[in-house]
Amino acid sequence: MAYRWETPASVWLEDDKSGQFELAASEGLSRIDWQGQARARLPDVAHLLGASLPSTCNCARIYPEGFAFCPTCGRALVKLAGQVKSQPDWWGPWSDQFVPRHVPHGLPVTSLALGDALEERPAAPFVGRFDASMPAPPNAQCVFAAGSYGFPTQRLLALAYTRNVLQYWDPLAQLWHLMAPEDFSVDLTFSRSAYGWLPVANPRRGEVALIPTDKGLCRLWINPVSETCRAEPVFDAVLASAPGAVRRHVACLFVSAAGTRMWTAHSDLSQVELLDCGAAPASGWMRPISYDGRLLWLHQMGQLLWQPGAPPQWLPWPRGFSPRLEFGGPTQSRDGRLWHIGHTGQEYSFIELGKDNPQSEAISGARLGFANFLFRRGHEVVNEPWEVENVEDLHEDDSLVLPLLRGFNNNRSQPSGLVLRFHKYTGRAEEALAGRTIPRTTVEWIGRRNVILDEIPRLSRPLECMPFVYQHCLWLHHPDWNQIRGWRLEELP
Ligand SMILES: [Zn+2]
Repeated sequence: MAYRWETPASVWLEDDKSGQFELAASEGLSRIDWQGQARARLPDVAHLLGASLPSTCNCARIYPEGFAFCPTCGRALVKLAGQVKSQPDWWGPWSDQFVPRHVPHGLPVTSLALGDALEERPAAPFVGRFDASMPAPPNAQCVFAAGSYGFPTQRLLALAYTRNVLQYWDPLAQLWHLMAPEDFSVDLTFSRSAYGWLPVANPRRGEVALIPTDKGLCRLWINPVSETCRAEPVFDAVLASAPGAVRRHVACLFVSAAGTRMWTAHSDLSQVELLDCGAAPASGWMRPISYDGRLLWLHQMGQLLWQPGAPPQWLPWPRGFSPRLEFGGPTQSRDGRLWHIGHTGQEYSFIELGKDNPQSEAISGARLGFANFLFRRGHEVVNEPWEVENVEDLHEDDSLVLPLLRGFNNNRSQPSGLVLRFHKYTGRAEEALAGRTIPRTTVEWIGRRNVILDEIPRLSRPLECMPFVYQHCLWLHHPDWNQIRGWRLEELP
């Protein structure tokens, strides 16, 4: 015999003999396997749902949402409902929706005021150290999201998109859980191009994002109580690229018998249209960038441009121009035009993006960065992307700086952000980013004050460094490290 308790979001059963509560159903959650997994994770489940936990009695391990007193003995409970302060979401360095319009969206630019907290630390040349850590997820090649997915509190997910594994961080147990796919769920693997997902603006409970998979666009859902997930098909096709959003539209490239085509729809996924993309390639795309009302996908062979209401336009690069996509991404000139770095066989140059006959500006050496956060070796480039770098310290000629994340701040004239500095590196930038092991690297915040956050011996494949923000920390993950390094931030506004 069990009593049934109904809260606004859940149904609980109370065993009349043991006095224990069991979650029978909760809004948005698929079937709940309470006996199997949830027991070991009751504190996490209670926080996730906003339920109550015992404080001074042992009558039950968990109580329904809103319970303030134990129904058996009348003692006070820890009532978690309404206790959580909302924290900013994180959907990958390239996915901040709050960056202003005049900054390209889709590049590693964050609107979170990271600098205000990090610049409180001792300035360079003092070498700092990380002050928080968490184990790397078991499948370490992944993208991270910190969101609430319609629940009262935020949780961290790590999607290993090449291995069809979704991982969930239980912050109370300090453990990663693998979420088992539910019946008929679509495979989450996406391997043809750079990964990128589209977060949902007002998620229903358990709703994560619109995600690309090798077999189509899907809506990803989680059930963190039973530790399961499912992907619901939205558009079935072999996807060629990650999806992008511009104004009230979403779009994605896919492969058809007739060549590469584009799927587009309104943000609510209504009014689907399929458009031809000419000779655009079927894989190998960077994640899209939206700027000036257009979506832009970059590829080693050229660029694909799309403005809602017009046909997509495939523009191969000018003859002899080979882009250096790994150097970062598009950057802006003072007049707001977008440019990308590449090599012509003779020299490096920036060429204007989105134009049939682009203007080009020759430069004397490689420049790493994106979105006006650019470096020539150890020196910042502050004016036009092709202008002479700003040499503050001649010693920095011996180092090479790789920007990871720009912090966007309206009140600052000079860009600030998170970078890696390779010390005593005089080789080519291409080699540092590819296979070479760099003996000494520092993680630095460049801003009003430069702060050395940490030091990394023997780093290779630096482009796999993945910054994210979760639980008032800036974290840095690399698939080769067995722990993720974190630096505490003041409470973000
Ligand atoms: Zn009690």
